Amino acid sequence: MKVLVADDDQISRKVVKAQLLKWGYEVVEAEDGEKAWQILNEEESLRMVIVDWMMPGIDGLELCHKLRESGDKSYHYIILLTSRDSKDDIIGGLNAGADDYITKPYMAQELEVRLRAGARILNLQQSLEKALEAQSYQAQHDSLTGLLNHRQILQVLENEIIRSARQGSSMAVIMGDLDHFKKVNDTYGHVAGDAVLIETAERLRNNIRLYDKVGRYGGEEFLLVLPGCTMDEALMIGKRILESIANQPIKFQDYSIPITISLGLAFNDIGAATDLADIVQAADAAMYQAKQNGRNRLELAAN
Ligand code: GH3
Ligand code: MG
Ligand code: MG
Repeated sequence: MKVLVADDDQISRKVVKAQLLKWGYEVVEAEDGEKAWQILNEEESLRMVIVDWMMPGIDGLELCHKLRESGDKSYHYIILLTSRDSKDDIIGGLNAGADDYITKPYMAQELEVRLRAGARILNLQQSLEKALEAQSYQAQHDSLTGLLNHRQILQVLENEIIRSARQGSSMAVIMGDLDHFKKVNDTYGHVAGDAVLIETAERLRNNIRLYDKVGRYGGEEFLLVLPGCTMDEALMIGKRILESIANQPIKFQDYSIPITISLGLAFNDIGAATDLADIVQAADAAMYQAKQNGRNRLELAAN
């Protein structure tokens, strides 16, 4: 674990540093509060801070205030190290946002155990952060294909509708549905069907632009949101998707499974107002039309 040691006194800094190194910590030094503040803003992985109270410029107390006020989203554990040892000082230090307080002169062992207590809190906080991240990822993604899930792709679409209205830009939405997918399950089994969905998702991802988004809208239905694109670009992406799916049968175990998709494209012109349900409905109706017209094709929504 990395520890920032902020102290204007070079000798005390070196003493603390030598102790920390001995206990297995990495050490970053700051010769005053300004420097400490700068380092903490630059190095996100620095969460443990040992700070001297009295320093020129930004002192230890102010550094505590600044860190807490910044709403440090990744928690910093702050130990105030100081020769001020009255009860009032201790209360003032903790009140400013320090987590712990050690008065000089101190026993090396005291610093060691207090640091360890802080490290426990930081580790706990980090695993909580990770768990929250994983949970939020799971809440937004489809577990089979890794694409955005139904709710999330609609959220993306809603945001893009708002953005395109504000920026006066165009956008397109493509609804895709695999053709005769039930037959894939019936012929090759459900596991093969799952493999087809996974590979389809991969091909969709590979054929959109960086800022396009694709989600699994339903079982074998996919929704693509293409912000700021022209009709020609949207048609080109649609064509690319049809080809990438139809041209290569999907390999699963010993099977080579031919697959096609039908696409419905709804285009929203520059600055045109639209509503989430309307544009999804339009893309869906166009997709249905593509099914009617023979599948493995793209149809445009009527405006
Ligand atoms: P169409 O060309 O008209 O779209 O015909 P289709 O057979 O693709 O359409 P239908 O809606 O009749 O069947 C969709 C099938 O998709 C039925 C369902 O069992 C299957 N399915 C939905 N979700 C999954 C899944 O997660 N895994 C697998 N293997 N199959 C799924
Ligand atoms: Mg379907
Ligand atoms: Mg289908």
